[in-house]
Amino acid sequence: MTLIKVAPPLPQEVDLTTTYDAVIVGSGAAGGMAAHVLTDLGCKVLLLEAGRKFGITEMNAELRSMEWPYEHSRRGDLPPGYHTLSFNEYEIRKPPYAQGSPFRHVLSKQASHRGADYVKNILVDEKQHPYTGTKYAWVRARLLGGKTNIWGRLALRLSDYDFKGKAHDGYGEDWPISYADIAPYYDKVDLLLGIAGHKENLRHLPDSLFQRSTKLNVAEVELRHKLARMGRVLTPYRAGVTTDGVKNKYRSRCMGRGACDRRGGCDIHAAFDSPTGLIYPAMDTGNLTLRSNSTCHEVLVDRATGKARGVAFVDSVTKRSLEAKGKVVILAASTLESARLMLLSKSPRYPNGIGNSSGHVGHNFCEHVMGPGITGLVKDLVGKPHTLDDGRPGGFYVPRFRNLADRQPGFIRGYGFEGSSGHQIFPPGSDVPGFGTAYKKHVRDYAGAYITMGGFGEVLPRFESYVDLDPVVEDAWGIPVLRFHYEFGDNEKKMAEDMAVTAKEMFEEAGIEVLNVRRGVLTEGWSIHELGTARMGEDPKTSVLNQFQQSHDVKNLFVVDGSSHVSASCQNPTWTIMALAWRSCEHLADEFRRGNL
Ligand SMILES: Cc1cc2nc3c(=O)[nH]c(=O)nc-3n(C[C@H](O)[C@H](O)[C@H](O)COP(=O)(O)OP(=O)(O)OC[C@H]3O[C@@H](n4cnc5c(N)ncnc54)[C@H](O)[C@@H]3O)c2cc1C
Ligand code: SF4
Repeated sequence: MTLIKVAPPLPQEVDLTTTYDAVIVGSGAAGGMAAHVLTDLGCKVLLLEAGRKFGITEMNAELRSMEWPYEHSRRGDLPPGYHTLSFNEYEIRKPPYAQGSPFRHVLSKQASHRGADYVKNILVDEKQHPYTGTKYAWVRARLLGGKTNIWGRLALRLSDYDFKGKAHDGYGEDWPISYADIAPYYDKVDLLLGIAGHKENLRHLPDSLFQRSTKLNVAEVELRHKLARMGRVLTPYRAGVTTDGVKNKYRSRCMGRGACDRRGGCDIHAAFDSPTGLIYPAMDTGNLTLRSNSTCHEVLVDRATGKARGVAFVDSVTKRSLEAKGKVVILAASTLESARLMLLSKSPRYPNGIGNSSGHVGHNFCEHVMGPGITGLVKDLVGKPHTLDDGRPGGFYVPRFRNLADRQPGFIRGYGFEGSSGHQIFPPGSDVPGFGTAYKKHVRDYAGAYITMGGFGEVLPRFESYVDLDPVVEDAWGIPVLRFHYEFGDNEKKMAEDMAVTAKEMFEEAGIEVLNVRRGVLTEGWSIHELGTARMGEDPKTSVLNQFQQSHDVKNLFVVDGSSHVSASCQNPTWTIMALAWRSCEHLADEFRRGNL
């Protein structure tokens, strides 16, 4: 079943002899938002996307959110010839992880969930896209919309505890903006795309303009009440999902059909994804030309002016070399890929890569540390009638509570928990010993009584945490790949220890039987929240971009993805990426009209 009847708009013809007002590289959250804002303001835009288009109509829909496991020949599992990287492989081996693998295709850890067959054409094949250096679990999606096709949709705002973190604890750099600068753009994103949530009036996790919240179930409500006694908050998952509907013919409102967690994406696009939320409406303006299968490898520079004049790319299928011309170039290829592109764009004028006079491109890399968490049993729910608990796009979120009014002795900054409880299509606890009728009864009785949560902590940006270009290894298109120089530091390890302690303390306070406390830290990269490789700042010597994500060195070059973030915060980044991109593109259009670019 799918409620989407509207096919994507017909594509405009790509004219590589034209100089577009702007060329955007990448079509995920950042590139999609840039395309949306600029075309709305009347600019003629060419959007280059390395991956293919993505089918959304009934005939070619790739997301099959409503398919039952028994309707799939392998119950959603991958076909022979595919291999998914495991935690141990990331930990024991060094990248490139697919090197020497006997399997035809190797996928990142993101395919380790049930139903991996549904994401096998969304995630990149690690064999084609190697990287080197220190261990790192890098998850990439190369197709129209990028990672937004499968993102988890937790849509959170940052606060001045994040933008002004240095003022709070002395570490790192403050952002060149404060919450007041970005708040109107968060509002715009909320209204355009829809976000479900519940107001809590927290200074450290500002509320959005929420649509109808998803419901907490019994165990979660109980935990919320108990945490309130500890001065902590449990709020329904703030989901980048429209529950009341938005003015967008490509998207339906959430029907709470319980398939969110099973199949990667939402086939009725209630959950935000960049193609239906941003790109197709931008194409409807008549101002957006999209070229998929276009792998960019260099920002081209006008020798006389030093300004960007376009990009060089190869057709991802034919490998033919091509160029596109633009008065402005906007990089939105994702945090790590945009840094790679800047480093690849070496010229006599920019010998260290474009926009890199500071030497900071690729540096100050940060993200979220994950691993510690807890699973418990709500005994009162054992044997109770079954309820539809996964008929919603998320469970709950416990916002940061460390280092706000208090000062922790072992670490600075904070972490939040994502969690859920209740019935799921694949019941938790089905790995208990036993067989036959007694086993089935046990699984049924306990299925709705489990509750679990895991932490996401802020990783500090450090100049020594960086990526550069590998001097030898190339991807399947002959483009040098990234080499990682990055590992968690003491602050992250101490913070992770504290996550396990507080998770246990909260469950115990709530009277939940603790079954398992997870203390291990997952491999760097696990959070899929890469940030910081071309940070914003006021000083061109220590930052790459100004507050409008505009290169200090090249005034018609903008980098509108998470690479501009000065610190990682512990809140998930996508809503901030889009709010910032909106703000920057409005500024860009103003400057463009004034002839300043
Ligand atoms: C499973 C999963 C769960 C997640 N959960 C959450 C969550 O709950 N909350 C949250 O805030 N975030 C979440 N994220 C992260 C979120 O998806 C990203 O923050 C967001 O997609 C970043 O947007 P982006 O535009 O920077 O990058 P992307 O979405 O990755 O888009 C980049 C695009 O650029 C293209 N590209 C790359 N290189 C080139 C090139 N050389 N030439 C042309 N095109 C290129 C790519 O193909 C891609 O389409 C999750 C991600 C995943 C994978
Ligand atoms: S629960 Fe809502 S957001 Fe999730 S797949 Fe169903 S309709 Fe989409």
